[in-house]
Amino acid sequence: MAFQDLNFDGVRALIRVDFNVPMTQLADDGSREVTDDTRIRAALPTIQHVLKTGGSVVLMSHLGRPKGQDAALSLRHILPTLEQLLGQSVKFASHCVGDEALDVTQDLASGEVALLENLRFHDEEKAGDEFFAGQLAENGDFYINDAFGTAHRAHASTAVIAKFFPEDKAFGFLMEGEVKAMERVLGHAERPVAAVIGGAKVSSKLAVLKNLLDRVDKLVIGGGMAYTFIQAQGGQVGGSLVEPDMHKEALDLLESAKAKGIEVHLPSDTLCGDGFSPDAAQETHPTNAIPEGWEGMDIGENSREKFAGALADCKTILWNGPMGVFEFDRFAKGTNRIADAIVAATNSGAYTLVGGGDSVAAVNKAGLADKVSYVSTGGGAMLEGLEGKTLPGIAAVLEV
Ligand code: AMP
Repeated sequence: MAFQDLNFDGVRALIRVDFNVPMTQLADDGSREVTDDTRIRAALPTIQHVLKTGGSVVLMSHLGRPKGQDAALSLRHILPTLEQLLGQSVKFASHCVGDEALDVTQDLASGEVALLENLRFHDEEKAGDEFFAGQLAENGDFYINDAFGTAHRAHASTAVIAKFFPEDKAFGFLMEGEVKAMERVLGHAERPVAAVIGGAKVSSKLAVLKNLLDRVDKLVIGGGMAYTFIQAQGGQVGGSLVEPDMHKEALDLLESAKAKGIEVHLPSDTLCGDGFSPDAAQETHPTNAIPEGWEGMDIGENSREKFAGALADCKTILWNGPMGVFEFDRFAKGTNRIADAIVAATNSGAYTLVGGGDSVAAVNKAGLADKVSYVSTGGGAMLEGLEGKTLPGIAAVLEV
């Protein structure tokens, strides 16, 4: 059933959220403040739906990478922000399991919200300990997973806990959106389908590229990883980023793509810098003839237009990874051109998903996040999903 249709009247919903938010350094008085509340805001619709339909809410999350108890990483620090965003007070349990937790969660009245202390204060969380998961489960009547960012982890609160709620479990709005988006691109995509894959290294995207070979009509490869492909084909790439030990994998991939009739686009020209710096001198060279002393920092103008042209008629587009060192404004043109082309395709009716790490940062930087169909919130989880792996946090909720 869609989350929107669930009714929580009289139900204590135990929600795994991702409140792993950036914060200020610990002040002398022991306090810290949230510096970016995006993830807390993102969880609000799910929390509010439970409250609106008559339920109460118990929130659980990890924060940082504590080794045991660590006052600096207490979720207590986020309480003021959470209370302000929710517009109501939130009870805090100084342990996520045991009496301290149950004292707060057991008698929660309809409309009330409680937050449990950092799950990772207990090693059992990351270990996926079943007994610990059972203890956590005592804090609610219904389990909701709304933490896509940790869906690729088989932790106690993200996967193992679901077995204690065989009938009473669901994705929250955030997870539901991510699952639907992935399904729409990898499962039953409208064709032609294009994947634009960029970023630093081939090695970190190889599994994604391989999985996409059975799913796309066009493959656009840019970013630092393109130079390994070009070098493997015999090109001279100057001082560009390369992974020579990936030559064979790169050539095999191109061969498989060709055999499957996929249209592959690699950059024919490259905007080079005379060093890896924001104010490096710029020259454009053919990607397979970059002189020594120069390194590929962004795709060139011809490639920009060719890539954008290839996307124009696509009905489904997946984008993961920037086309160049977009953090330096002088080398962001390629990435921005792709973002524009994806927005244009969206306006023409294409379904467009921007998933994973830096391409998300790029569309945010360009102010275009609300102009594409879906922007994923989970870097690592989205990457593993695109690799075709089963994500434990998703499987656990779907299991019957
Ligand atoms: P990834 O996390 O693998 O998607 O890689 C993103 C990073 O790749 C960004 O920080 C970019 O600056 C970097 N990147 C993209 N193109 C290049 C390039 N031509 N040379 C070096 N780094 C690049």
